[in-house]
Amino acid sequence: MTGQLTNNKFHRPDIIQRLRNGETILVAEGYMWEFGRRGYLKYGGFIPEVVLEHPDLVESMHEEFVHAGTDVVEAFTYYANREKLRSIGREDELEKLNRTALKIAKKVAVRHNKLTAAGLCNTPLYVPGDDTCTAKVKEMFKEQIKWATEEKVDFIIAETFNDLGEALLALECIKEFGNGLPAVITLTPYGPDITTDDVPIPEACRRLEEAGAAVVGLNCGRGPETMLPLLREVRKVCKGPIAALPVAFRCTEDSKTFQSLKDPKTGEYLYPVDLDSARCNSSDFEKFTKEALEIGVTYLGICCGNCATYFRAMAEACGKTPPSSKYTYESSLSHVFGAPEGQKYTRADKIREFMLDIKKN
Ligand SMILES: [Zn+2]
Repeated sequence: MTGQLTNNKFHRPDIIQRLRNGETILVAEGYMWEFGRRGYLKYGGFIPEVVLEHPDLVESMHEEFVHAGTDVVEAFTYYANREKLRSIGREDELEKLNRTALKIAKKVAVRHNKLTAAGLCNTPLYVPGDDTCTAKVKEMFKEQIKWATEEKVDFIIAETFNDLGEALLALECIKEFGNGLPAVITLTPYGPDITTDDVPIPEACRRLEEAGAAVVGLNCGRGPETMLPLLREVRKVCKGPIAALPVAFRCTEDSKTFQSLKDPKTGEYLYPVDLDSARCNSSDFEKFTKEALEIGVTYLGICCGNCATYFRAMAEACGKTPPSSKYTYESSLSHVFGAPEGQKYTRADKIREFMLDIKKN
């Protein structure tokens, strides 16, 4: 055996090799949204205090997504940056939160032979062309990258940037301080198909790729249907692997992002607390996954609104059978909907006929 035995890469191929080998990499996200839904995270600030207060639940959610088919365990450090923690008076716990989240993710990933990723994201501070802000943001990225490399992640995700400038800054920091770890950089279109610094999204992805990102693409904001057309454009201009992680809400041509969805009943905006009434279903993700694979997306996941059953549907549409597939729905096992017509369970026949609207009068 030759090469450096110290870089941990003899144990299993890294993400770049796996993508080059033609593998589709699945990445479960949406921890923030799901913890909010379960009552452990405050919508508005969206800060992952749950890592400090209920680390056992964070570990358990990672387990749930591994069971549903994720190849990557991403540390739950979304918005765990200095500015966000300062805003709730917990800046002194910043390092503890980051290291705890990284250790939990690593523990679960090692247990199941998965990849561990660090997670950086857009900051509230970035202002294009403002050197003071840029320096502050750079410091915030730098410290999170340092903790991530010390906790030995396999790669770094920097995600949901509206500005190409901030995304490029994150990439520059990963290259400078990330010990050569691969960078996955994703953008979130805030509305139109451009960044907030007015670069068409496909062109922005192309520039990130050219600047050295291992994977580029789209994450959050749009739902499955509204993300697909833009993915086709990204695919046309990027040479390497591209990423797609839509939100699990039914965005439409009129409301391309989940922030702009309205309740058809009341006309009120649904974001963030009432979005349950616009949720996708498992079939939406089966369909999305097949179309994304056809486009040539090889890094796939689900962002806000993700849950284990949607993720399993995505994994199965990729031809994978995660442990959770043991429990995938089988109509033949249903005494009401599965029993062959006229056989056994006569009372079930009666119920089924009524439920399926066969014999209503
Ligand atoms: Zn999201």
